[in-house]
Amino acid sequence: MKKSSAVAFSLVITAAFAQSPNSNNGAAAFDQVVDRAITQETTLLKILRGEHPIAETYIQDMGPDPDFGAVPVDDHYFLGKLDLSRGVTTESFIPKSKAASGVGSLGAFSRLFAAQYLPRGFAQMLLIDGAQFDRAHYDFEYVKREFLGDVRTYVINVAPKKDAGAGRFTGRIWVEDREFNIVRFNGTYTKPHMGQVYIHFDSWRVNCGPDLWVPFETFSEESDLPYALGIRKLHFKAVTRVWGFTTAEDRHQSEFTNLTVDLPSVRDSSDQAADNSPVESLRAHQREGEDNVLDRLEKANLLAPPADVEKILDTVVNNLVVTNELNIVPEVRTRVMLTTPLESFTIGHTIVISRGLLDTLPDEASLAAVLAHELAHIALGQEIDTKYAFSDRVLFDDEAVLQKFRFARPQSEEDAANAKALELLQKSPYNEKLTQAGLFLKALAAAANRLPNLIRPLFGSKLAANNNILRMSALIEGAPQLQKTRTDQIAALPLGARTSLDPWSDRLRMIKMRPTPLLSAREKMPFELTPIYLHLTYESAADARLGGETRVDPQ
Ligand SMILES: [Zn+2]
Repeated sequence: MKKSSAVAFSLVITAAFAQSPNSNNGAAAFDQVVDRAITQETTLLKILRGEHPIAETYIQDMGPDPDFGAVPVDDHYFLGKLDLSRGVTTESFIPKSKAASGVGSLGAFSRLFAAQYLPRGFAQMLLIDGAQFDRAHYDFEYVKREFLGDVRTYVINVAPKKDAGAGRFTGRIWVEDREFNIVRFNGTYTKPHMGQVYIHFDSWRVNCGPDLWVPFETFSEESDLPYALGIRKLHFKAVTRVWGFTTAEDRHQSEFTNLTVDLPSVRDSSDQAADNSPVESLRAHQREGEDNVLDRLEKANLLAPPADVEKILDTVVNNLVVTNELNIVPEVRTRVMLTTPLESFTIGHTIVISRGLLDTLPDEASLAAVLAHELAHIALGQEIDTKYAFSDRVLFDDEAVLQKFRFARPQSEEDAANAKALELLQKSPYNEKLTQAGLFLKALAAAANRLPNLIRPLFGSKLAANNNILRMSALIEGAPQLQKTRTDQIAALPLGARTSLDPWSDRLRMIKMRPTPLLSAREKMPFELTPIYLHLTYESAADARLGGETRVDPQ
């Protein structure tokens, strides 16, 4: 600490700890905060060592643009399971063939980071120091107090001691003042080895239970990081998300405990026929296959457990079903995949939409267009293979889930569904607002070539190939000209614009967005990653959690 700030430091600290009866001076009280924070961090590490959450990293390489300063020009995607028992290791979900094509397009990145290093390097930024976050290795300096949302924090500068070794954290931590957990840290690591580069990052945690703050999202950005012996500069932004700390098995375990209470001992079937007809048996067989696949995806922490978001989606589907007088048995359901690549598909009578697609859709009519296409597959009777009705077919390791499940369809089925979906939309209340859906597809076409990994589905059929829209392309004809530089035309939203996730339970919720007038077209950021700035709250107010995130509302 510099001499000149010593007086101010002492005054602020004493005031900050004035209520604490045990502290005679600020410096001693500050030491207590640091000691508590170190203890809490060590406890968190112990908890995390037993967990195997999902880690998803999405990177957008930025290039110069005359209108916007910089726009994404390429992208990279990683999805895997994190093993925190021995430091940070990841096991990729992406099959080798797909990963290979991804790595092939890495360009600068593949030379900079080995393929294995990349996901691991980004996952690393969820922890401050996996081994030795303590006074022996770090110096701490009080900065100020600050609210992050509803949570009051101490802001503390952290620097490694001179002889602390390579790979130490340097930057700033935010420590909440109830239990002294670190809720945010922002900085980089020091002294990279030859050929390694450490990037700057901002890592956020959320409260998921009493005294439990877990890693959630990390944003990284570099605008002129030298690489290749300093000859070239790297310009990118990246978001790493972690979720799936509890498994579907954990959730089902508590369900099992309550089983005897929930169900009556004998089913009352007085108003039902005693036997199933062949058609009913077929439907039951198909529904069972559907449920097996959904359960397996939820068990792999890729599918969100049903919550309020699905009710919104169900309402839109219901609007289409009712106005078209469709009679679909069993009823159509909706679910959300927690992954970023833009996709939607059906499993039996269940429509699945990815979080990335849900986030970027600008309005309800665009959502209706996506759901109408999937509803059309169902209405046309294009069922999935019933082989999944045999339970053994869904018994495999989580890491194999992308190889085992493919829900892509032949183009002939896609074309038929596109035509049928237009019919459904024309008879629906969304008919008047379809220009917005067409505009979204235009924006998608404009971005598709530059963001191949955002466009490449994990399970379903492609929405676009190169710059050609394969899904509902007829809607493009009625759409207005894409006006990239106008602030009053929002064709697609940034990633993460609509939904927020509880990383402990996988529960997804819609963000309550404040209307935020745009200052310039640069703030539109269609399909782009944006910095993270969470409105933190304590778990007791869980329903309001993340409710006021500072993100741009184009409405
Ligand atoms: Zn389709």
